[in-house]
Amino acid sequence: MQFIDLISQKNRIRTSLLQRFEAILDHGQYIMGPEVGELESQLARYAGTRFCVSCSSGTDALLMPLMAKGIGPGDAVITTPFTFIATAEVISLAGATPVFVDIVPETFNIDPAGIAAAVRQARERGLRPKAMIPVDLFGLPADYDALDEIAAAEGIWVLEDAAQSFGSAYRGRRAGSFGLAAATSFFPAKPLGCYGDGGAVFTDDEDLDRLLRSVRVHGSGADKYRNDRIGINGRLDSIQAAVLLEKLMIFDEELDARQRVAAAYSSRLGEKLVTPAVSEGCVSAWAQYSVLATGEEQRAKIMERLAGEGIPSVIYYRISLHLQKAFAFLGYREGDFPVSEEMSRRVFSLPMHPYLKEAEIERICSVIAASV
Ligand SMILES: *Cc1c(COP(=O)(O)O)cnc(C)c1O
Repeated sequence: MQFIDLISQKNRIRTSLLQRFEAILDHGQYIMGPEVGELESQLARYAGTRFCVSCSSGTDALLMPLMAKGIGPGDAVITTPFTFIATAEVISLAGATPVFVDIVPETFNIDPAGIAAAVRQARERGLRPKAMIPVDLFGLPADYDALDEIAAAEGIWVLEDAAQSFGSAYRGRRAGSFGLAAATSFFPAKPLGCYGDGGAVFTDDEDLDRLLRSVRVHGSGADKYRNDRIGINGRLDSIQAAVLLEKLMIFDEELDARQRVAAAYSSRLGEKLVTPAVSEGCVSAWAQYSVLATGEEQRAKIMERLAGEGIPSVIYYRISLHLQKAFAFLGYREGDFPVSEEMSRRVFSLPMHPYLKEAEIERICSVIAASV
């Protein structure tokens, strides 16, 4: 059994993909070819934003808005410790200081109630709080109504980390449309993935769109060899754009299939484990279906039983970012973010993809039922 089955999906779109690849071989614009512009307009329409700037990864999609807005040394950026390393890594790459705020246990997303105190503490340390990066973890949007209100009150801007949530919705708006800018990833295992690395930034701000396009190509100015600012090599390949154009055509159908898988899991596992809550007014993209065991011991037992039956399961995330060696220089200690730390001891994720069969779900759930 696969944790994420990319082969069934590939079989569905193989013929049309090969046609697109052939067209690229013939036109020869291998990087930033016509497929890239077509993809950007389709993605912007899908997310409901004015602009979309594609780029080479989700990490670059997070880094580029920070660079475009001049985030640097002395600035503080608020984020969650319960996420993939890239969310906080880009803050350090930009030269600024990550400031963590604990999460809400039900959603695994940043707790809006902790942000004002973190902003105040950052100011007391002599830092300038400039922005926050909420993450839509496992595909579920963070609480943007609350976050927008706090951001406005504190005078900071919001960068949505929608790397796992493209296709999800919050109160009628799609992920990618929150904050001043949003970043998503097209890493193959994400809900909308390509066949390599890729990402995109979304915004409604025309000036930011222009700056992002400059940062994406070495800070280019009026032409390629006039450089107005420090940028990166953040371009997207035409082949990756072509893959995404084909996958977008079946994306809504796949999202529906993910909802069916999640509902089937939840109806069977609700009495055995803590199953994922979907906040009111939200639709998850179900990048992961993550459950909670009672503790480390029970989790190890269940995962071992599953592995024994050939069923893969994965822990996202075993180590909260404030306890990672890479961030030791920030000076955080164990106990600083108790919810995040507890989740890291209890959480694990089950196979989740649109092609998971009813019989497979049944088998996974009965192995779990027999081991708790
Ligand atoms: C995957 C991911 C990223 C980084 O995306 P890449 O395309 O792998 O660079 C950033 N944030 C979160 C929450 C992610 O899951």
